[in-house]
Amino acid sequence: MVKKVSDGMSDFFGWFPSTTFENNTCIFASNFANTCAFDTEDGLVIFDVPIRQFSQKTFDEVRKITSKPVKYIILSHGHFDHAFGYAPFIEEIKKNGWDMPEVIAHENCVKRFEKYDILDKYHDWINKQQFSSVFKGGNDSVVSASETLNPTIILKANQSSYSFKLGDVNFEIYHDIGETDDSLWLWTPEKKTICTGDLMVSSFPNVGNPFKVQRYPKDWAIAMEKMREKNAEYLVPGHGRLIEGKENVRDVLSITAEAMHFVHDEIVKRLNEGKWFEQIYHEMLEIYPEKFKKHKILSDIYGSYRFAIHAVYRLYHGWYNSGNPTDLFPSKTDDIAREFLRLNSESEYIKHANSLFSEGKLQLALHILDIIIKGSDEQNTEALTAALYLKLKILKQKIKDESNFMAENILQNGANQIKERLKELKNST
Ligand SMILES: [Zn+2]
Repeated sequence: MVKKVSDGMSDFFGWFPSTTFENNTCIFASNFANTCAFDTEDGLVIFDVPIRQFSQKTFDEVRKITSKPVKYIILSHGHFDHAFGYAPFIEEIKKNGWDMPEVIAHENCVKRFEKYDILDKYHDWINKQQFSSVFKGGNDSVVSASETLNPTIILKANQSSYSFKLGDVNFEIYHDIGETDDSLWLWTPEKKTICTGDLMVSSFPNVGNPFKVQRYPKDWAIAMEKMREKNAEYLVPGHGRLIEGKENVRDVLSITAEAMHFVHDEIVKRLNEGKWFEQIYHEMLEIYPEKFKKHKILSDIYGSYRFAIHAVYRLYHGWYNSGNPTDLFPSKTDDIAREFLRLNSESEYIKHANSLFSEGKLQLALHILDIIIKGSDEQNTEALTAALYLKLKILKQKIKDESNFMAENILQNGANQIKERLKELKNST
């Protein structure tokens, strides 16, 4: 695996200066996620507001260029990094006595906000894992349902587009599903610009996020093809740098569509051949085309092809995914491990894990070590400590080799838990 596209990751999270284009009439502010402000004769149209923590920074960047009032805020979708950092804009409107802006969103965005109402704590817990390396130990809930900016213009389920004009600029908004079911994207013919929200990010699409609900690869491809028809000069992605030039815009939309069709269609083919998940997963890894591996816009830094395989399978398949009746009503993994330890001692398993490790078979070594970690008696501190140390060593190696932000966070969270456990074991002896 290619290690660390770290410049790619800093690009992804927008740690670079804001820019303008089209004679300073379009302001591209990138703070974790991207905001695009369109400066028209009659006021501003804002596509996406940033994550709450960066709202003031984005506001200041827009206000360096223009002082016109905000008339419209368009929410590409309701995720925490695109819909919550609106406070400075709204405070300014109230302070100046301006009219409140129209807020445009899809009706599924409203449903999403309702979902946040009942799952606030769960989302906080999940996001702290997914983003653990950027929100280190923060107690702040990343999404608070009580802080949503309520939409005033809501696209209904059967409504695929909505248009308005401000000054002499036309704004065409389209609904397509992909990362979420509430996605809106924007096309402005006068500015030759598409704002995609997270339908385009500077990474393989986040279609198979290990922590999140179902996403839609085939519809994603179709959205890319619809965008391509616009022949845009500029593409403002949800995360990452502004993409400029007709050829470049066309290229990123085409290759992303192609990758989404590929992962979808190849898995559908294998489902029709009567294959179970494990076989499909490993076959899909084998056939992943070089041209996708090499393309920068499909970098395995946030979304991942490895994750996308899960997404397509889950789209069409139930949770019984092995074809093995043993897995239908499984025992506890701790109990299974204990039985393995009755057949062979901890020291035998450690010895074997060590030899797998020295052969570079890291994943297999992890499975063997888990037999000790899960099955050993708490009093057996010597064996547990040895197994945990080796697992930590393997996780550190995997972290070093891993290019993907979410995978790296998952591995790192596991490593941190092991360090804690080792401390406890040390104190107990
Ligand atoms: Zn995002």
